[in-house]
Amino acid sequence: MSTEKTVLVTGGAGYIGSHAVLALARAGVKVVVLDNLVYGHREATEWLHGVELYTGDIGNRELLRRIFAEHPIDAVMHFAAYAYVGESVTNPGKYYLNNVSATLVLLDEMVAAGILNFVFSSTCATYGVPVKLPLTEDHSQIPINPYGQTKLMVEKILADFDRAHGLKSVCFRYFNAAGADPEGRIGEMHDPETHLIPLVLDAASGTREFISIFGTDYETPDGTCIRDYIHVADLADAHLLGLSFLESEKRSMSFNLGNEQGTSVREIIDAAVRVTGKEVPVREADRREGDPPILVGSSALAERTLGWKPQFGDIETIVRHAWRWHQSKAWARPVSE
Ligand code: UDP
Repeated sequence: MSTEKTVLVTGGAGYIGSHAVLALARAGVKVVVLDNLVYGHREATEWLHGVELYTGDIGNRELLRRIFAEHPIDAVMHFAAYAYVGESVTNPGKYYLNNVSATLVLLDEMVAAGILNFVFSSTCATYGVPVKLPLTEDHSQIPINPYGQTKLMVEKILADFDRAHGLKSVCFRYFNAAGADPEGRIGEMHDPETHLIPLVLDAASGTREFISIFGTDYETPDGTCIRDYIHVADLADAHLLGLSFLESEKRSMSFNLGNEQGTSVREIIDAAVRVTGKEVPVREADRREGDPPILVGSSALAERTLGWKPQFGDIETIVRHAWRWHQSKAWARPVSE
């Protein structure tokens, strides 16, 4: 009998999901990916030998049953979600349907199949406006947009599923995911792109005329918003530790994943200038609605409980890895056996 572990990764062709797939594959875990490829990229995982991709929705019961019948799935890592905050405000139905309703179908089918380990991509957006910094896991969760609401709802559903069905989960509340695979094989590719670092790099490379700074009058040292940027490879590593935690501890927990370090918009731009050696044309713009001035998390709980420690905490390293990917945007080629 094989002792190989098999993990279903939903959204495994997306930005964070594909980095988790890479980390799992490197750790010798058999990976099955489910992704509808609406925002994900087939190329992000197909180069990895042994990773099997199913194209479809997480809310497709038939497909889930087929996957669970065809593979001895031990755990599910759930990345598949819509994640544009602005769109979640203008089209909330899309977010509640996909991020909540479809996730319920997935959980329902997991319970039916007896798969009871779940690692969930949650977000610091579940906290809303911080009343105390750095944010710790026991901070009140009062999201200020539908995207954050959907993630909080799933966190609550998971607590109920644990009580009712013994489904154990680790919820990771990410701060600002950034960077790319240090070896440059995969990276961030959103369409449309709304995130600060790739947009700044577009401005550095000339594919974008300038970067708008959303607000220069915040009560922060340089007047611009402060965020906690965390390397995507560090996020991926945390997922492996989360999986081991579920297997050994058999209980549910939520963890922040950040660098515990605040970086302002201007500091990101300065880092990009240093890393790229290019000018970054800037335009000062109005504040973006719904942006808290400062979001910085404490990851002490993840460090203490999981033994997680970010390897790439330095913002210049994060921007350098993002820049390397940004310049090539060439997915890794399939490795021949
Ligand atoms: N931001 C900016 N200009 C942009 C995009 C983002 O000034 O073109 C700022 C944004 O206001 C926030 C920070 O950069 O303070 C990070 O934004 P991003 O959208 O990358 O992530 P978020 O914090 O919204 O998850």
